[in-house]
Amino acid sequence: MTENDLNPSGEFERTPGGAILMDGNRLRDEIVARLNERITALGNPHVCLATVLVGDDKPSQIYVRNKRKKADEAGMVSRHVELSADISQADLEAAVSELANDPGVHGILVQLPLPDGLDAERVLDLLPAEKDVDGLTERSMGRLVRGRDGHVPCTPLGVMRLMERYGVETSGKSAVVIGRSTLVGLPQVLLLGRKGCDATPTLAHSRSGDLAAICRQADIIVAAVGVAGLVTAEFVKPGAAVLDVGISRTAEGIQGDVDFDSVQELAGAITPMPRGTGPMTIGCLMENTFNAARMLGALPSS
Ligand code: NAD
Repeated sequence: MTENDLNPSGEFERTPGGAILMDGNRLRDEIVARLNERITALGNPHVCLATVLVGDDKPSQIYVRNKRKKADEAGMVSRHVELSADISQADLEAAVSELANDPGVHGILVQLPLPDGLDAERVLDLLPAEKDVDGLTERSMGRLVRGRDGHVPCTPLGVMRLMERYGVETSGKSAVVIGRSTLVGLPQVLLLGRKGCDATPTLAHSRSGDLAAICRQADIIVAAVGVAGLVTAEFVKPGAAVLDVGISRTAEGIQGDVDFDSVQELAGAITPMPRGTGPMTIGCLMENTFNAARMLGALPSS
């Protein structure tokens, strides 16, 4: 797929206020289609994503179902392990170890959060770095910091892919990431600041003080908090790119951290919520799974 397929008129889709709409559904579909083409061109090697779901949390069930569906569309195989919420730590670890030791499994995704009483860190510790397609283990994080080949957490990677695809300039630009979790905010800061991206990131959080004033300096804002509508127009420098990661489930449905209606009037580019960073998380999981198969020597060399 070429630039022109996404952008036939030479112009990206825009919001009523004129901001470029960074459409995550569209880019995810493009990534999945490209992976399918690559796997087909390689003669359909076996590329397998294993998903582990513990308990019956509804949103987690939906996330896992969507991940498996996209793996199928990409030409990969998915293997699903479903375990009851009252499983013991030892039995969960045994199930994950089996996948870790299985040469027919390339990527392992343990859907988080785990039910109360189960220790996610001990489970993540069992994943070999090559199979850690969520990029959450300490070895994957270490590789990211050290600039070594490894898996980058899918949500911040998805934010980077959206900026690349929709022409957001990063080199020499200032960026503010709101939220400092190891899942999103911290790796996001590393990705923005690393060579090749070359932005100058600031990590803001709940104790940062005047958040609006900090964000108003930024050319790029990534909001990963989980407070609906936190980022309003007063946070945004005209022309800034605003990427919304936060998800709040409210009576009115899913809401992001960004007050889309007011911010799109000022922003140069903006993600919708939903259909922005969420689908990109899945697209990047597929990309990581393909790379896992490559790292494990499961792909033919051409
Ligand atoms: P988290 O709760 O671990 O971290 C939230 C961060 O926000 C913390 O670092 C905290 O310091 C900061 N924070 C809290 N209140 C704040 C405030 N008032 N002002 C400034 N900072 C504040 O959450 P997380 O796992 O990083 O997820 C963040 C959000 O992103 C959640 O809503 C989550 O559901 C969502 N999420 C979305 C995707 C996606 O694919 N779009 C993926 C993962 C997480």
